Amino acid sequence: MDIKITKSPTSRIHEVNFDDLPFGRTFADHMFVCDYENGAWQNPRIEPFHNFSLHPATMALHYGQAIFEGMKASIDDNGTPMLFRPERHAKRLNISAARLCMPEFPEDLFVEGLSKLVALDQNWIPKEEGSALYIRPTMIATDEFIGVKPSQSYKFFIFTGPVGPYYPKPVRLWAETDYIRAAQGGTGFAKAAGNYAGALYPAKLAQDRGFDQLLWLDAKEFKYIQESGTMNVFFVINGVTITPPLSGTILDGVTRDSILEILRSEGKPVAEHPITIDEVVQAYKDGTLQEAFGAGTAAVVSHVAEIGYRDLLMTLPPVSERKIGNHVKAVIDGLRSGKVEDKWGWTVPVLAEELV
Ligand SMILES: *Cc1c(COP(=O)(O)O)cnc(C)c1O
Repeated sequence: MDIKITKSPTSRIHEVNFDDLPFGRTFADHMFVCDYENGAWQNPRIEPFHNFSLHPATMALHYGQAIFEGMKASIDDNGTPMLFRPERHAKRLNISAARLCMPEFPEDLFVEGLSKLVALDQNWIPKEEGSALYIRPTMIATDEFIGVKPSQSYKFFIFTGPVGPYYPKPVRLWAETDYIRAAQGGTGFAKAAGNYAGALYPAKLAQDRGFDQLLWLDAKEFKYIQESGTMNVFFVINGVTITPPLSGTILDGVTRDSILEILRSEGKPVAEHPITIDEVVQAYKDGTLQEAFGAGTAAVVSHVAEIGYRDLLMTLPPVSERKIGNHVKAVIDGLRSGKVEDKWGWTVPVLAEELV
């Protein structure tokens, strides 16, 4: 399919202070849009960034058929924009789509539309290491209809915005024992909008008590660790890096997968197996809990400073001693800036020829 490109007559880039980029509030000049009508994706196009006009009965607003992705483009030392594992994000979007009865979006069109969009707005990619152009592919149901059933029409769009280097403060997590994020058989493995809405209230209760985010436990026994906010979680216990398996209730994070691959390629001991909060408490008491960190596209690695569980507050070792978390973050940041050799083929350069 041909992607029709309509360039913005003017750029807003001069209005932006690249030294002060609050996350998620600045948007680049263009967006990719494609519509699903009569059983097929139609009219893929790149247009100036603009608002949509939506009918009040637009189905996504009522019944929650809305999914998204989150990824980043960076720029290497030669000024070449790079995407990170774009096919994996395209595949995951379609896994989310299938669970929500939404149509799959062709993976090659996803990567092509994204590449053209990033090539066109490449001046918007911040150059400082650790900063990036954040990318938000999204799909919503657009039938104008009241009634619960899958929509017949959809809109897929990708927009982007520059984000500054993310130096997250080590986070304080609360292991939640009253509320759940996802149960077996639910939508926990999908990047579905509704999953985040349901998490806001318990997260707010924890924030009111001084924690930053929740550490979710399984929905049946409140025993097995799941994930945290928009991050997968890792623990380093006695030299072994452990993360919960993809059981259907957690998101299959691209950062999670990359970290596992990096550590395995270096011969470091890793384990994808169920881990209970009691095992973490025991390791803490034994003095073998060396690290805990969250892993996701936005922060890459977010060190965990403390974990609250019932009446116990576990304080983890200082961040300067976190060998694994600091190492994998450096490798992933280095791959994104082209400073670390990419033996996996994860980084995909976006060439100026994309635009012809
Ligand atoms: C996006 C997300 C992650 C992290 O996925 P990445 O592909 O590494 O960015 C983890 N958990 C949840 C719930 C998420 O939404």
